[in-house]
Amino acid sequence: MSKTVRIEKAAWIAAWDEARQGHVYLRDGDVVFAGDRIVQVGGNWSGEADETVDGRDRFVMPGLIDIHAHPHHETAYKGIREEHGVPAMYMTGLYERSQAFRLDAEGRAACAELSYADLLLSGVTSLADLSSDFGGWLDLLGRSGLRGFVAPGYASARWQLENDHVLGYAWDEAAGRKGFEDAIRLIEMAEQHPSGRLSGVVFPAQIDTCSEELLRDSVAFARDTGRPCTTHLSQSKMEFNEMVRRHGVTPVQFAQRIGFLGPEVNLGHCIFIDEHSRIGWHTRRDLAILAETGSTVAHCPSPFARYGDALQDIGKYRRAGVNVGMGTDVAPHNLIEEMRLALIASHLAAEDIHTAHTVDLFEMATVSGAKAMLRDDLGKLVPGAKADIVSVDLSLPIMMPARDPLKSLIYHAADRAVRDVWVDGRQVVAEGRVLTLDREGAAGRLAEAQARMCAEVPQHDYAGRSAEEIAPLSLPLG
Ligand SMILES: [Zn+2]
Repeated sequence: MSKTVRIEKAAWIAAWDEARQGHVYLRDGDVVFAGDRIVQVGGNWSGEADETVDGRDRFVMPGLIDIHAHPHHETAYKGIREEHGVPAMYMTGLYERSQAFRLDAEGRAACAELSYADLLLSGVTSLADLSSDFGGWLDLLGRSGLRGFVAPGYASARWQLENDHVLGYAWDEAAGRKGFEDAIRLIEMAEQHPSGRLSGVVFPAQIDTCSEELLRDSVAFARDTGRPCTTHLSQSKMEFNEMVRRHGVTPVQFAQRIGFLGPEVNLGHCIFIDEHSRIGWHTRRDLAILAETGSTVAHCPSPFARYGDALQDIGKYRRAGVNVGMGTDVAPHNLIEEMRLALIASHLAAEDIHTAHTVDLFEMATVSGAKAMLRDDLGKLVPGAKADIVSVDLSLPIMMPARDPLKSLIYHAADRAVRDVWVDGRQVVAEGRVLTLDREGAAGRLAEAQARMCAEVPQHDYAGRSAEEIAPLSLPLG
């Protein structure tokens, strides 16, 4: 028998209004779920409940949806990547770092466990996990309690650097094919996982590292089987230049040419599109193409802001009709802080406080993300939707005055105010503690793995440099 949980008299609720097709605030109402489904939002529940939660100091909202993250390795870059960038690669440190810093399988397991815990603590209930298997991936993700969209990456080429300014490619088409086949197998295993919360995403890793044939076959497989498909596209100026060198058009226009765009396609990160001020390209078509094809942009402002770049700007993308979802991409895996940065970065890029508002970010992190994952039962509090629910503590001084709970949460408190989280009706965070994972233990194992990774950097770096030479500490060792 499924358990019925009643959050009684929640002070504030972000409820879904079918008629408006938008979220609305409700006051002093119940939120009730039975098993994995929501049965009532607002008003007074007159039925029985197995468990009653006092909602008087709570803001109840749908769980957030992270459509782009790499929890298996990004947290291992804590203290390394925040200020690591290569000026001769238009500031991006992506290529140099991925070659020099390589985390072992044990480290990836610890990294994933810590990252999943951080995601849950910031109110994320659905995660597109763009990673590769370290052996126990599916079981760990299943155990975390998250709703997992498993995206095993593969590619026909690896980036290869011999200096600080040329992005080279080591092609191996057969390895890309094998990676694709292995990914399909893993996706099918995920969908049979006993947790019942895992499903698959087709993930050719980057537009510049996959052959045209592999990209075409990947998106065809996704379409034929009703699964989402994702890749990295327009994520750096280096990639933009490479795609123009190969094809004479922007990455977005190349993707359109080979039939890669559509409602099932989610692109990280579509920053360097034709009209970006630092690109200087002659067309102004990319945004319209993204909108017309119904493709999604996975917006993750942190890594780019650190390099000194920004998407220009999310308000404009949304007004053009592009579906934009939110991702964390790098550590910290804190989607609420990422929403704050996305708002502020859009205001800076547009020089306009009204280009995007809190309601835009809330939609992006909920229903827009659900759309990208091809789901209409996630990201909203409405009877029949999945019971993926976050309860926020309004009594904390950092949330008060909670005149507008979403603004208090996004601009002020972030994860600090997230108290309880349920996924599929099962409680996974209680009183700000993750119930399903060993966060402290994973952090300790990751610290050891990071030390092993850093020790091996000179073997992998093209110039044989140490981790300290590539990413110096903030203060010299005295
Ligand atoms: Zn990414």
